[in-house]
Amino acid sequence: MAVRDIVRLGHPALRSTSEPVPRDEIADSELQELIDDLLETVRDAEGVGLAAPQVGVAQQLFVYESAADPAELEGSPSAPETSTLEVIINPLVEPVSEDLEFDWEGCLSIPELRGLVPRHPEVRLWGLDRHGNEVEKILSGFTARVVQHEYDHLHGVIYLDRMRDLRSLAYEDELDDLMDAEEDERPAVG
Ligand SMILES: [Zn+2]
Repeated sequence: MAVRDIVRLGHPALRSTSEPVPRDEIADSELQELIDDLLETVRDAEGVGLAAPQVGVAQQLFVYESAADPAELEGSPSAPETSTLEVIINPLVEPVSEDLEFDWEGCLSIPELRGLVPRHPEVRLWGLDRHGNEVEKILSGFTARVVQHEYDHLHGVIYLDRMRDLRSLAYEDELDDLMDAEEDERPAVG
């Protein structure tokens, strides 16, 4: 396993649509190594999600923080002990309802900045796990936000594209000063 370099805004991988992983290639050592490296890289960067394009690989997979009770992860910048990292390959993410909630988001490929982004509070996630087994689950709250952020990366979309008002865009340091008293409002970073 190795920590890979995370590409930053301006790298074409962040603006490209990724290719699905052929099912018979999931067990290949190259793909399994990519998954291990994504897991190690997101931990190293203290993020809560990381998509393959963020390490310059145009394939449809990402890793994300999950927890038995999504409320445990609500607003947490880096995962508490109770959380686990999940892997999803060739995902499809669909909102359960048209509802939208605004919250702070950041991106490991756009360091230091945060912005208010609308996301669906509940989504259905389909895809394959690292063994090629089919996965279908309902995710809510913070985990749903992370998954929507990472799913966007597979389609060349970044959170800045989703913002409704760029006036909330801010440097993390400046926000920290404003939010010192409110720990639970720290942004998600993926
Ligand atoms: Zn991101």
